[in-house]
Amino acid sequence: MKNRFLLVGICLLALSQISFSSLSKPIIDYRIKAALIPEEKAVRGQEVLTWLNDSDEFIGELQFHLYLNAFKNNRSTFMKESLGTHRGFPSDKKNWGYIEVKTLQIENGADLMPDFEYIQPDDGNKDDQTVARVLLPEPVPPHEKITIFIEFYAKLPKVFARSGFYDDFFMVAQWFPKIGVLRDGVWNCHQYHSSSEFFADFGTYEVEITVPKKYVVGACGKRIKEVKNPDGTMTYTHYQEDIHDFAWAACPDFVEFKEKYSLKEPKVETEIILLIHRSHLNQKERYLSSLKNGIEFYSQNYGPYPYQTITLIDPAPRAYGAGGMEYPTLFTSMSFHWMPKWLYITEMVTIHEFGHNYWYGMIGSNEFEEAWLDEGFNTYSEIKAMARYYGEDSSQVNLSWLKVSDLVSQRFQLIGSGKMDPIIKKSWEYYSGGSYSLNSYNKAALTLLTLENYLGKEKMSEIMKSYFERWKFKHPTTEDFIAVAEEVSGLDLGWFFDQFLYSPDKLDYAIGALKSDPLKEAEGIFGGEVKEVEEKKKKEEAGKEKYYRNEVVVIRKGELIFPQEILIRFENGKEIREEWDGKDRWKRFIYVRPSRVKYAKIDPDNKILIDTNFLNNSMTIEENETSLLKWALGCMSRFQDILSFIAL
Ligand SMILES: [Zn+2]
Repeated sequence: MKNRFLLVGICLLALSQISFSSLSKPIIDYRIKAALIPEEKAVRGQEVLTWLNDSDEFIGELQFHLYLNAFKNNRSTFMKESLGTHRGFPSDKKNWGYIEVKTLQIENGADLMPDFEYIQPDDGNKDDQTVARVLLPEPVPPHEKITIFIEFYAKLPKVFARSGFYDDFFMVAQWFPKIGVLRDGVWNCHQYHSSSEFFADFGTYEVEITVPKKYVVGACGKRIKEVKNPDGTMTYTHYQEDIHDFAWAACPDFVEFKEKYSLKEPKVETEIILLIHRSHLNQKERYLSSLKNGIEFYSQNYGPYPYQTITLIDPAPRAYGAGGMEYPTLFTSMSFHWMPKWLYITEMVTIHEFGHNYWYGMIGSNEFEEAWLDEGFNTYSEIKAMARYYGEDSSQVNLSWLKVSDLVSQRFQLIGSGKMDPIIKKSWEYYSGGSYSLNSYNKAALTLLTLENYLGKEKMSEIMKSYFERWKFKHPTTEDFIAVAEEVSGLDLGWFFDQFLYSPDKLDYAIGALKSDPLKEAEGIFGGEVKEVEEKKKKEEAGKEKYYRNEVVVIRKGELIFPQEILIRFENGKEIREEWDGKDRWKRFIYVRPSRVKYAKIDPDNKILIDTNFLNNSMTIEENETSLLKWALGCMSRFQDILSFIAL
């Protein structure tokens, strides 16, 4: 067994040398044979991993992610953090998942198992077995490769937190021993956390998937071989370069649809593969058209989709814990057979998860440490794509009597949110799962949209394109994005990013007061400035016009500072726009005019999408009404604000 394994490994290694592509610098090369054992709800695997030591150091140990061990018991770090529930779906305590490394060898046959141990670099939780290290008999010299042979057994949990089985539906994800990332000679290999996704190096995957004949299989990359085995099983081989993870799904009830997709500008040629569960076949067109919209939007706005395939997996009913997740060239979406036509959830999830091929798949930032670079960028892109294809006002709910956009639903998340965390933080160190998601998705996306409104759409588009083009396949950090934004805009944006990425504080500006009083006779002793008032008073006495002293006070209620515009409207219909640097706690504007001020609004064009309270952004006065009516009108005005906000 060992020798045969070795030979196969060497052949594959030789093959891998000639097949490296130019999109990414390949660090890893996985050749995996995986056999699904449906009755055990498990996968038996053999893995040949070739890893390049891309550092200038001699590396004496390797570190691996063993993600499935997060579901081994309720003492794992994942289970302690999540309390057994992920995105609202509970784990099944009768169906734990785990991964067992059976053998671990290097090319010369040396057995590494005696030097295999679990480590807990993030929290020291000795019950957590999601990261292991092995000591090597000899270090890997700088810029040299090592090949490791691993046999493993992956027992899948009942679908939970992205992976597992439900009856005969299998979502096989986070399922094989996966090497960590070496950065500057140090391993970056975090435990599997409840609020965290992943980070890995680019390279090549070739995976042979063997399943009983009745199963339909979808997997990352392109299918390069199909073999009927004598025992009645089928083996499907998938191959893909320039990716950093591999997942697959199998179910006898998948119905497969394939369609060529091409785009002229920029040039895109790919094959769409839909694997739709039999019970959701009526959702096919929704999946297909929204995926096409996604490919078009991201290709036109960031760069052409470069892979030869894109596979959409529609999870089986009641396996929704596997839905809405991204892998390179493959993603899981989500729908129900009864999904109403006016509710664009299927479209939103499809576009969002496809979009991850850009910010997660090709940009490949460290999601453990800077999740916003994926989720925030992708939510920003999703909001814009949804608006383009499903209407600025109606991109989430599109009824004749109620329209809600994706943007509005993102903004609603912000209302009443606390200030527990900044946008950038290690994923597992946020106050809660809710705070991780608020900061990494909603606040991050609204921050990028606010930046777009500040710089202008064209400049922002140039920034995003330049960032994607320059950093794809290179694992950029936040600093890299800021450098591109400053270079392209020609502005120092430190004040913006320092506040909005690194501070948990809020941005909230409001109209503090709005007053209008008839101009009074000057009494007492004055300096020169009363002259103008005096002149107006004289005009008024001459019976020409009645003058008012109008006062508008704007206040900064939050800690964060952003330059503001204020719109002031008078009863005679005249409008003034004022600018304020927003630095002080308040600013008062006074106008002596032959008309009463009626309405004032801060940020009149709704550009500052990270303002946490939009209802205090405007104020109206109705002087002549009784106090009860005034109160009622005040309520109406608030309601109008909500409506105008919804109709953004
Ligand atoms: Zn996402």
